[in-house]
Amino acid sequence: MKALVELHVHLEGSVPPVLLRELAARHGQPGVVSACLAPDGERYRPCGDFAGFLRLIKAVCAVLRTPSDYHAAALALGNTLADNGIVYAEVIVGYGILQRDGRTPLPYQRALAEAAAAVAARRGVRMAWLPDSVRQWGPDAAWRDLEAAVAAGPALGVVGYGVGGDERAAPAAAFAPVLAAARGEGLGTTLHAGETGPPEAVRDAVLAAGVDRVGHALAAAAAPALLQLLRETETFVELCPGSNVATGVVPDRDAYPLAAFLDAGVRCCLNTDDPALFGLTLRGEYAAVAARGLAPSRAAAMQRDAVAAAFLPAAERQALQALLEEGAASPPGGGPEDPSPPAAPPPGSAAGPPPPG
Ligand SMILES: [Zn+2]
Repeated sequence: MKALVELHVHLEGSVPPVLLRELAARHGQPGVVSACLAPDGERYRPCGDFAGFLRLIKAVCAVLRTPSDYHAAALALGNTLADNGIVYAEVIVGYGILQRDGRTPLPYQRALAEAAAAVAARRGVRMAWLPDSVRQWGPDAAWRDLEAAVAAGPALGVVGYGVGGDERAAPAAAFAPVLAAARGEGLGTTLHAGETGPPEAVRDAVLAAGVDRVGHALAAAAAPALLQLLRETETFVELCPGSNVATGVVPDRDAYPLAAFLDAGVRCCLNTDDPALFGLTLRGEYAAVAARGLAPSRAAAMQRDAVAAAFLPAAERQALQALLEEGAASPPGGGPEDPSPPAAPPPGSAAGPPPPG
C-alpha cells in the first residue's frame, strides 16, 4: 500500500536520537542524552515499564524548549512520515506541558504550522494538530489549553483537542465540560483511556466524557459489554500495539488483543504513539499484525475507518479516501516496503494548513 493514515502520534515522542543530541547540545543539557539514549547514541533506551516511559518522555520534553525546537521536531517527524508512505497524520502536541512552564502555545503552534507547510510542499505529507492537556494537572489547566487551541484554530492546522497523562489521576468526567466546549468549537475530541487504567476508564471516556475517539482502550478488550458500547456509540479507538508492548502493559505482540476489537465490530486503526522512543513505524505496525494472520482486507478496512474518523471536513476525508484507494492493491504491511512518496500531495496540503471546518 502506497499511502497510510495515522491518528495518534505524539510530537514529543517523535524526536529522533540525532535531533535529541542536537537539542541537548544547544541547551547545554548533556545529561539528557545519557539519560535517554543507549550508549551508541543512535536509539532510545528501553523504558522497561510505564513509569520508565513517563521518565523518558519527561526528559525529552526538557530539551524541547523554543518554537524553533518544535519546528525542528515537526520537520523531523514529517520527513519520517513521508519515508513511511504516510499521507496524513494527526499529531498530538502537549499544550499542557508548554503552559505548565508559563509558555504561551501560540508561537509554538505557528512554528508547527510552518514546518507542516514545508513538509506538505516538499514531501506531500499533511500534518494536522491535536493540542492536549495533562490529566493530573486538572480541568482548570485544561480550560487554558483549550482556549489556546481555539486561539490557534484551523488556520494553524488545529483540528482537535485531547486529554492524556495519568488516567488514574482524575476521572474522565472531570474533563467532560472542557471536551464538550471543544466540540462546540468544532474540534474533534480524543482521550487516552484504558492504557494502564481499568475498563471503567474507557466506559467513562465514552459515557461521561462523550469523546469522538479513545486512545489505546486496551482494557476494553477483555470486557465484552464495553466493546459493545464502543461499537454502538460508534466511538473510534486509536490502537497502539507496539507502544503497549514497549511500555510493558502488554507482555509481547502475540498477546496484543487486536482480534477482540475487530471481532466485536469496533472501528479502530493502528498507530505508533511515540515512534522515535519505541523505534516503531506505522508500516511496521501493520506488518506485525499481518505476520500474525490479519487478513489484508481487514487491515485495509482499518485504514478506511481511520480516514472516516479523521477530524477533517467531509470533502477532505473523501479526497483522502480516494488517495488511499489508489494504493489499495497492496494492503498495509502486507507487501514489500515502498518508501517512495505519493505521486500527488494529499488533499489540502498544497495550500498549507487545513481550511476551517
Ligand atoms: Zn498517546
